[in-house]
Amino acid sequence: MLRNLKLLDGSPVDIEIAEGRISRVIDPSGGAGIADGPLDREGVREIECGGAYVSSGWIDMHVHAFPAFDPYGDEIDEIGVKQGVATIVDAGSCGADRIGELAASGGSAKTNLLAFLNISRIGLSRIDELSQLAWLDGERVGEAVARYPDLIVGLKARISRSVVGDSGIAPLRIARELSTATGLPLMVHIGSAPPAIEEVLAHLREGDIVTHYLNGKPNNLFDAEGRPIPALLDALDRGVRLDVGHGTASFSFKVAEAAKRHGIGLHTISSDIYRGNRLNGPVHSLANVMSKFLYLGYSLQEVVAAVASTAAQWLRRPELGRIQAGDRAHLTIFEVSEESVSLLDSEGIERRANQRIVPRGVVANGEFMACEVRA
Ligand code: ZN
Ligand code: ZN
Repeated sequence: MLRNLKLLDGSPVDIEIAEGRISRVIDPSGGAGIADGPLDREGVREIECGGAYVSSGWIDMHVHAFPAFDPYGDEIDEIGVKQGVATIVDAGSCGADRIGELAASGGSAKTNLLAFLNISRIGLSRIDELSQLAWLDGERVGEAVARYPDLIVGLKARISRSVVGDSGIAPLRIARELSTATGLPLMVHIGSAPPAIEEVLAHLREGDIVTHYLNGKPNNLFDAEGRPIPALLDALDRGVRLDVGHGTASFSFKVAEAAKRHGIGLHTISSDIYRGNRLNGPVHSLANVMSKFLYLGYSLQEVVAAVASTAAQWLRRPELGRIQAGDRAHLTIFEVSEESVSLLDSEGIERRANQRIVPRGVVANGEFMACEVRA
């Protein structure tokens, strides 16, 4: 039993968990309660939460959770439950060659794991994984998707110069075909040209996700005056979705402020975290990235929705984005601390904020853990 929590609207709540599931959501004031039955049972573990916020378990839509790969790898629980994140979505670390190993490590982790499958069978064993079309094996993609339906939520294609090399736009064309064949959406990483950003966006459809939408590189989604480029507005009209994917090189305060000014986003917040940018910044943790959006002027409700209900809906797992009796228990317990904090973007620009989001505990698959990391 988690006692003395509050929802984002400030209303008090206690949450009872039994056998991995939320068994009751209780209004402790006894007012418009959802409660029924006696509150106290023998042998129930009581966790006093001190009036902290609770939301459905945070979801990080873009992480690198395959520790064997360098630089883009990390341990699942280091970037998951230890940071208050109940569900992580590996964003294409593995292709068909090694997705089975990722699935197995997810089975032994406490964090709930989902994955976008890299369309390149070699995944991020190299960082130019789309430079040879021979590594794009549609048959192997189909087999992997059929074998791991609970793990794989989409396909990942990194479409920027250093990844595609001389292949140009061809890998994205193939990704589009594989998306149609598997019925899974694409997550497309954007960055330096070629291909030009307009050409990349032209291939995306409703339900596809652009990650790194606030990157400050040339070839980004905003013009020199900070206005969204027409191809972005067209893509949004078609139902293309925008994900932060902060990472080492893909979040600019200047671009983020332009996006806010023009009402572009906010959809999902994700970290693109791996060992290097966790330990040395500028990412540190999903909470740190969330604090940047509070600083930008988004409300706490908007910031939390971007790692909870919106992410769950995109992943076609609505139960991950709500707090409801009967569902498997995935919750995040956190506070908003009033303190001076230095926030750094990927361009080395620092902003001083006076609030930060601090995870205190997490429930993943019904198991409660206090959070160790404060970043
Ligand atoms: Zn990327
Ligand atoms: Zn990434």
